[in-house]
Amino acid sequence: MGIKENLEFYGKHIPEHVKLVAVSKTKPISDLLTAYECGQRIFGENKVQELANKQPQLPTDIEWHFIGHLQSNKVKYIAPFVNLIHSVDSLKLLKEINKQALKNDRVINCLLQFHIASEESKFGLDVEEASQILNSETFASLSNVKIVGVMGMATFTNDGTVVRKEFNHLKSIFDTLKKEFFQNDIDFKEISMGMSDDYKIAIEEGSTLVRIGSAIFGARNYS
Ligand SMILES: *Cc1c(COP(=O)(O)O)cnc(C)c1O
Repeated sequence: MGIKENLEFYGKHIPEHVKLVAVSKTKPISDLLTAYECGQRIFGENKVQELANKQPQLPTDIEWHFIGHLQSNKVKYIAPFVNLIHSVDSLKLLKEINKQALKNDRVINCLLQFHIASEESKFGLDVEEASQILNSETFASLSNVKIVGVMGMATFTNDGTVVRKEFNHLKSIFDTLKKEFFQNDIDFKEISMGMSDDYKIAIEEGSTLVRIGSAIFGARNYS
């Protein structure tokens, strides 16, 4: 199946309230353009350099999402154009995003990334850490970042029961934060969860943003 057919499939199988982030990491500009020509406007990348390199080569009405682990010293390269950073996992990073957003006279939308998988290696906060950030005076002083929701990655497993439980956990984290910190904030509404292999479960558990790469563009070649 080609990119066009794959996007048509998701167009039919993803409900209206869920947005599709086409994860284009490692893929050439020509593949992104093909997707663009099919109407796809949201693209996700996980490496700063690759994103900063691709962005100027593509149409300006693309919404760029950064989905990978972000180091503070690299925020400046994507701050002029990035639309949503999915992977905020510290106050230090949030401060730097705010600083660079201010320089560019923008407000940058962010998601707090939570550790929901059983693997040690995956980045992310727990509720306690997130509460500390959201309660801090530093956070209250950041005028150029906006927290619009949460993100998480499930354990890499074929066991749907495990994956469902983890996504359900992320939904409950979202609900807790909504109630405690964002009750009257209509912009806090995004739950970024679900990839090629688990997007169906993610949508059933409340996802509003699915990040799909290989099922649209084909398997990645890292060699
Ligand atoms: C690569 C990546 C995806 C997409 O993964 P696929 O399995 O190819 O759909 C989604 N989210 C993040 C954070 C990624 O790094």
